[in-house]
Amino acid sequence: MPVPVRDRLGRPLHTLRVSVTDRCNLRCAYCMPEDDYVWSPRKAVLTFEEVDRVVAALMPLGLRRVRLTGGEPLLRRDLPELVATLRRRLGPTADLALTTNGTRLAGVAAELAVAGLSRITVSLDTLRRERFRALARRDALPAALAGIEAARSAGLPLKLDTVLLYGVNHDEVGELLDFARDLGAELRFIEYMDVGGATRWRLEDVVPRDRILAEVSGYAAETPRPLPGRGARPAERFLLERREQVFGIVPSVTAPFCRACDRARLTAEGTLFGCLYARRGLDLRPPLRSGATVEGLGVLVAGWWRGRSDRGAEERAALPQRGALAPSEVLRLEPWLEMHHRGG
Ligand code: SAM
Ligand code: SF4
Ligand code: SF4
Repeated sequence: MPVPVRDRLGRPLHTLRVSVTDRCNLRCAYCMPEDDYVWSPRKAVLTFEEVDRVVAALMPLGLRRVRLTGGEPLLRRDLPELVATLRRRLGPTADLALTTNGTRLAGVAAELAVAGLSRITVSLDTLRRERFRALARRDALPAALAGIEAARSAGLPLKLDTVLLYGVNHDEVGELLDFARDLGAELRFIEYMDVGGATRWRLEDVVPRDRILAEVSGYAAETPRPLPGRGARPAERFLLERREQVFGIVPSVTAPFCRACDRARLTAEGTLFGCLYARRGLDLRPPLRSGATVEGLGVLVAGWWRGRSDRGAEERAALPQRGALAPSEVLRLEPWLEMHHRGG
């Protein structure tokens, strides 16, 4: 009978991020800057039933939160069906979230809410249409804003994630804060990470946590007060008292927090990774497709998690010199290193 597992650093397996597709309809400069990519063969992509079996296998090990991501998860047809399946599997109260670029959300937000989604995070890096077009290489800001509005109308609790890049959108901190406050959404600023996919990454393009705090203080004319209780969450949260607004910073480059990381990532093809930076994972597709039971899968995953010692971002922070994790030639050979493949 499996019991909750801990890895070699004592970290539990509480969270699973499921990439439901490696496809995306945007080409964000910090994630997919290249002209062409190696895609997962469709037959290799896990069915909803297979994803459900992986989730079932992880639950006795301690799993309590699932986040659907990608690529762009809303490119996966019938996603509300997967949400309904996982809601039944997880029970009525477990956290079941979605990270999306929002561009396909308008038509499906209400359905996702009915299917049992707990909340949505929309990635939104700019409020300026031309800037969006340049950054994401698609003219899709109106669609993303319509998606955000639909999520709000559907009553889904909403977060906004913004990757800040120097010289690109670092000057929009104030506008984005106002936008999030008016919407009733929590905004999180994310440091630009040197993950697989970010082939143009340079340290000088990162807007560090302290600079973000200074920008916010200047704009809001008050000092953000740190909120306690970060737990395993990647974001540090702050309160702007006068504005009655909470916002977050994910300082994965300058102040990584691997020692609390309780997340595993499942690629669309069924490989589990213990870290955003991990080069090797546990391929669950062969056992899934050769009749392994949920219990059998659980035993495999438990053994793998117990051996986990990943601290990718902390190790990267200790490097004397830092550049992109891997050049595009390597990513073409090992596409599972890509952020859009393993799920951010
Ligand atoms: N397509 C969806 C989206 O953009 O929300 C989900 C997948 S995307 C890979 C998940 C998150 O990863 C997004 O919030 C995106 O901003 C973030 N991301 C991608 N590349 C990143 C990088 N180099 N540094 C920091 N965050 C990154
Ligand atoms: Fe942008 Fe998300 Fe697509 Fe990456 S996966 S290019 S972050 S929309
Ligand atoms: Fe977790 Fe790896 Fe990110 Fe550290 S770098 S927080 S171990 S996923």
